[in-house]
This record gives sequence, C-alpha cells and structure tokens, in this order.
Amino acid sequence: MTVDDAKQMANSTLIIGAGPAGLAIAGRLAQKGISCTLLEASDHIGFSWRNHYDRLHLHTVKEYSALPHMPLPARYPTYVSRLEFIEYLEQYAERFSIQPLFNQKVVSIQRNPTPDGLWRVQTETDTFTADEVIVATGYNRSPNIPDLPGLRNFRGILWHSHEYRNGAAFRNEHVLVVGMGNTGAELALDLLEHEAFPVISVRSPINIIRRDIFGRPAQKTAVLLSKLPNWLCDRIAGFTQKLTVGDMSAYGLGKPAHAPTYDNRRGKTPVIDIGTIDQIKAGKITVVSGIERIHAKTVTFTDGRELPFDGIILATGYRPGLSAFLDQSITTKILNERGYPKNLWFDEPDLKGLYFLGFTTPRAGVLFHLNIDSERITEHIAQNNS
Ligand SMILES: Cc1cc2nc3c(=O)[nH]c(=O)nc-3n(C[C@H](O)[C@H](O)[C@H](O)COP(=O)(O)OP(=O)(O)OC[C@H]3O[C@@H](n4cnc5c(N)ncnc54)[C@H](O)[C@@H]3O)c2cc1C
Repeated sequence: MTVDDAKQMANSTLIIGAGPAGLAIAGRLAQKGISCTLLEASDHIGFSWRNHYDRLHLHTVKEYSALPHMPLPARYPTYVSRLEFIEYLEQYAERFSIQPLFNQKVVSIQRNPTPDGLWRVQTETDTFTADEVIVATGYNRSPNIPDLPGLRNFRGILWHSHEYRNGAAFRNEHVLVVGMGNTGAELALDLLEHEAFPVISVRSPINIIRRDIFGRPAQKTAVLLSKLPNWLCDRIAGFTQKLTVGDMSAYGLGKPAHAPTYDNRRGKTPVIDIGTIDQIKAGKITVVSGIERIHAKTVTFTDGRELPFDGIILATGYRPGLSAFLDQSITTKILNERGYPKNLWFDEPDLKGLYFLGFTTPRAGVLFHLNIDSERITEHIAQNNS
C-alpha cells in the first residue's frame, strides 16, 4: 500500500510502530481478515532491536517470546540473540504480508470533530484518518536521563544505555554504570569482558534472580508460580532466591524487603542475572552507593567515597513518552503516574477506538503479554466492527 492509498482510506485501522507489538497486532488482524495500515518512524521494522547493544539475547525463553500464530524457529536457541530476533520479525512481517509505511513519524493523534469523529493521525509529512488507532510505540521510546548533580561537569564519555553497542571504547578504563536493572547489570558484564573496570552505582536494594535455576529457565517457573496464591508464590520465590543468589548486602546490593515476585506484581522487574553477580562476588565488578555529585573526572558517592572515571553509562531506563503526540486532554485521562496507559482501551465515548499495546511490564515478559493483549484488542475491534 502506498502513502496515498492509506491517506484515502478512512474507516480503517492504523497501527503506530512496527516493533514486536505493532507486528503482533497486525498479524492477528491479518488472521481475522481485518485490514490495517502500519506507520513506522524509522526505515525498518524492529527498529529498537536493531539498535540495542551487540551482546543482547532475549532474557525470556523462546516459547514465551514469539508473536501470535508463528513460533520462533526450532533451530534458534532457548535464549534468542538480538540478530535472530530481528530475522524472526522480518519473517513474521513477510508471513502476514505486513508492509509498514516507513519514515512516518507520528507527531499528533487527535479526534476530528463530529460528524465523522474519526481519529486524525498526523506524521511529519502526511495526515491519515481511521476509526481505530493502536499505539504500539514501545514503553522504551524516550531515554530517561536523570538530573544528577554535576552531570554536565563530566569530561569523559557520557552515554545513555541506548547509545551503548559494546565496551570496545573502554579497554583498561574505569567506567561507572548508573543503575542496576537488567541493562545495567549486563552492560557491567560486557565492560568487564572488554577489559574495562566497571563500577555499578545502586541507590536501593536490588531483587535478583538467576536466569536459570537448577537447569530450568526461571521464567518458566515464574509462569507456573503465578498460578499459585500470591503468598505461596512469594514464599517459594524468596526461598529459591536465598538458595541460588544468597545475601548480596555484603557486596553493596542491600537486602530486598520482599520476594522478587512481590515486587514484580507492583511493576518492578527483578534483575535476571546472566553472570554479573558471580563477577561482583569475585570482586571484578564493584558496587557503590548512590551518586552525591559528578565532577570533571571523578564522582562522589553518598557513602563519602570519591572515585575516578573515564566514562559514565546511564542505565537509567526509558519512558513511553506518549505526550509527544497525544494531547494533554487525552493524556490526563489515560496515563498513570508513571506515564503508562492505565488500560488497553478506554470506555469514554471520546476515547473510543484508541488502543495501547506493549505498555505493561508483566512477570512473564513484555513479549509474552503482547500475545494476550493483542488478542484482547483484536476481539474488541472485531466486536465493534460487527
Ligand atoms: C535492552 C532490552 C532488552 C529487552 N529484552 C526483552 C526480553 O528478553 N523479553 C521481553 O519480553 N521483552 C524484552 N524487552 C522489552 C522490549 O521492549 C519488548 O519486548 C519489545 O521490544 C516491545 O516491543 P514494542 O513494539 O512494544 O516496542 P519497540 O520494540 O520499542 O517498537 C516500537 C516501534 O515504534 C516506533 N515508533 C516509536 N515512536 C513512533 C512514532 N512517533 N511514530 C511512528 N513510529 C514510532 C519505533 O521506531 C519502533 O519501531 C527488552 C527491552 C530492552 C530495552
């Protein structure tokens, strides 16, 4: 479909973003025979995955990471590499004849005044109209850059994690990784493997689980545990963590107040460890407290220490950044305090036809949930159109 064809077509479904979420819903709609148009800001599908760091593999097992109606290939390993995942996304688009319109960065989504009441989606170059708009722009659209005291004074390399490909630039250098989520933990490991001296700054206790426990992927166990009552699930998860990770407070990682499953239910993803904690225990990766102030070549920490650094990597996460294209009159109704949509869709008449996919961070992984949520959205659209 050309841009002109899509602009002519009203009463259709527009999907914004050709990442896993956009493809998942396009695949489901294709199976139902519902036509749709995908608008993608970049010139490729799976743009985020093309730009993640080199060593990245899915943390989630392949059984729980495939998009609807098409498993990941049998020849892929349990934990699929970044490049394999991109290859799979391309094959998925081909299988369901999904042909996004590229270089169409959406800058505004608004509802037309009645009588037509259609959604008007404006990109940097074109305007489209549709009955339904599915926002699938990812929860990691905008890097979160914290306002750290003195950050501007730093004279070494300063990157947010989305700019990091590998540690080659940091051989024999001292690098501070700010934050220990899954990304921070893995980048510290990558820096070590590139012969740098990584230090991780951590403000509060971190909940960590091993990626594989007694040879079994922790994600599979998490899915089983989620069927149990919460208290029992937390007991088992807490006990397993004690057994496999142990008390990390002596290494600067504090003692989490709750089991990883408890935090996860409240939107806090535990660190799925792929080797970082063993290197911390071996003294090869150092953990320090929160940052007090950044200077030209050193950083002082809340425990009073001052250490020299050649580089700082901000592994401080992302924000969905939906207010970049949604009017305040919409965002005040739909976003929670963290800037995430509260639901997949909303019942208010003025929000009818607006959907959000890929903004939940569930226990079993974002990709796993795309399957469930894309089915719910497809059913809702099909019912509304029948
Ligand atoms: C480092 C890292 C590792 C991860 N590993 C896992 C994992 O192992 N398992 C798991 O389940 N999840 C993982 N995730 C979560 C991951 O984000 C999702 O699995 C998946 O990429 C989400 O797909 P998405 O389509 O919602 O978002 P994205 O992959 O970010 O895709 C969004 C798409 O929307 C496009 N877009 C954005 N804004 C606009 C706009 N204004 N107009 C048009 N197009 C736009 C982007 O260019 C992009 O192509 C990981 C995330 C990160 C950051």
